[in-house]
Amino acid sequence: MLIHGKTLDAWYASHPLLRELVALRETAWFNPAIAPAATALGDVGLDAADVQAASARLRRFAPYLARAFPETAAAGGIIESGIVPLPRLQQHLLDEAGLAGSDAGALWLKQDNALPISGSIKARGGIHEVLKHAEDLALEAGLLRLDDDYASLTSDAARQFFGQYRIAVGSTGNLGLSIGIISARLGFQATVHMSADARQWKKDRLRACGVTVVEYPSDYSAAVEQGRRQAAGDPRCYFIDDENSPQLFLGYAVAAERLARQFAAAGVRVDAEHPLFVYLPCGVGGGPGGVAFGLKLTFGDAVHCLFAEPTHSPCMLLGVYTGLHDAVSVQDFGIDNRTAADGLAVGRPSGFVGRAMQRLIDGYYTVSDEQLQRLLYLAHELEHLRLEPSALAGMPGLLRVLANPPYLEHIGVSAGQLANATHLVWATGGSMVPESEFASYLDKGRALQ
Ligand SMILES: *Cc1c(COP(=O)(O)O)cnc(C)c1O
Repeated sequence: MLIHGKTLDAWYASHPLLRELVALRETAWFNPAIAPAATALGDVGLDAADVQAASARLRRFAPYLARAFPETAAAGGIIESGIVPLPRLQQHLLDEAGLAGSDAGALWLKQDNALPISGSIKARGGIHEVLKHAEDLALEAGLLRLDDDYASLTSDAARQFFGQYRIAVGSTGNLGLSIGIISARLGFQATVHMSADARQWKKDRLRACGVTVVEYPSDYSAAVEQGRRQAAGDPRCYFIDDENSPQLFLGYAVAAERLARQFAAAGVRVDAEHPLFVYLPCGVGGGPGGVAFGLKLTFGDAVHCLFAEPTHSPCMLLGVYTGLHDAVSVQDFGIDNRTAADGLAVGRPSGFVGRAMQRLIDGYYTVSDEQLQRLLYLAHELEHLRLEPSALAGMPGLLRVLANPPYLEHIGVSAGQLANATHLVWATGGSMVPESEFASYLDKGRALQ
């Protein structure tokens, strides 16, 4: 049987790492094609002005968000999360790996698990795209001007106006949650096409907001495909295409300018002598891709981005490593795409992100479900964090970097610079996980210690 024109043995000969992927072993691949930001940012087709436009849009909507979602009022309607150092977890991870004495800099967490409105990284990209669509419609209809106070969009008249329009999305859970919640609050008729991986509580929560949830027995790609097809026949329906959306991507990218301010306020330096490593859980790629794009624009070659995927769903690693991008799925190689990390249960990567970011991502690695569950428990025990399994994928990244001196040499990071480094784990979700569900995550993790 041929896979994309070759036997499995021929694939193993040309791409030896596929053996590890197919055997579901944890592995890492460091990108030989990494290029300076100044050249490679040109591959993306979007630029700093696009990110600034998204950032300005989020500021225009801040008065609306502060009123429509009171939990954002304290931050003036800006949806943002904090950063915290993880000294105990860092010590524990290094001890476990037999690296107790190594001077590798400091481990920090970006707490997107606690983002307001939807408790995951999707509160960045997903909400931005819905706001962009709402703004476009309202501007065109003369309901709004760019210099208005957008809090007026909480009015019944505005809600009735948006009620003539539909928004649809396919999701493994969190994107649907973000888009459903903000769409319904604005007054749109929202439909979320959920893959089989989606947790029941996410569906329940959406239905309670008045969102239509359509369930599929199949995986994420099929849910997206069905959603896209249904929306295509309806001119009043706007389909949010997680696999190819620049507006999602830009919403994520805004995180970087804010992170730069947070680091400055915390006295954390990022420059050539103080490198920043960022470990991003990757599903279809839009979230980590957009964040990494913003980070490269903001910090240039001082930032090194790595994507983390479950051993059962290594779609981005597979797509970039083989060069097949969205033409290949993990299932093509017999990998089942069944993982406890429901936010990362994606079998086919975004072709847009894989190609656009090809020379900007330093590496990709995989993590087993058992590790994710074990780390979930440790993060709770040692740092009192409340994370969902997907959000732990970044946690072993520091160890993967330390285990690969040739990579550090390739990117020109010396031992002295490594000692000054910041390692930022992007925690992508978890604060909205119901108590009983979180307790069962902890039980699983505890049993694996
Ligand atoms: C969606 C999601 C990701 C990854 O984002 P993609 O855009 O799918 O790559 C990571 N973690 C969590 C919890 C998510 O919901």
